Amino acid sequence: MDAAPRAFTDLPRDPELGVPVPFACGTEDAYADPGTVPSARELDKRRVTQCALSRICGVCGAGLGRPLAFLGSPVEVGRNAFHFPPAHVACAEALVAAYAGVTAPVLGQDEVPGPWMLVTTASFEFVRANREDLDRRPTFQPTALLTESRAG
Ligand SMILES: [Zn+2]
Repeated sequence: MDAAPRAFTDLPRDPELGVPVPFACGTEDAYADPGTVPSARELDKRRVTQCALSRICGVCGAGLGRPLAFLGSPVEVGRNAFHFPPAHVACAEALVAAYAGVTAPVLGQDEVPGPWMLVTTASFEFVRANREDLDRRPTFQPTALLTESRAG
């Protein structure tokens, strides 16, 4: 059984950072080891794939419409390749607001992104890493940006 979608305010909290833990970080996995606590630091590979293939929000876990929002670092915007799955615009905005005071690398980022960037798009490609890629994680590549803004 996988977790049902949840309202943003019902997301579990990361006990260390005190922030809501989004769907893509693998909250309350029924198969997780006992004693596993929700963590906002790393992405859950299985959840990321589920978000991509089922077009569900990386924050709340519910189905996505259009536009889609991607949240990431300026580097990710520059490469047009994001690690965090697509989200509802409102979910992405709520997440970035909640993470405003966080000074640790979170949501699959290797470092603190500086300003979080928010882009919107109507569609994306899910790109799996090649064997020779240093970073073996899949990325989300928006096909055409509708908007790009500094989010926090
Ligand atoms: Zn959502």
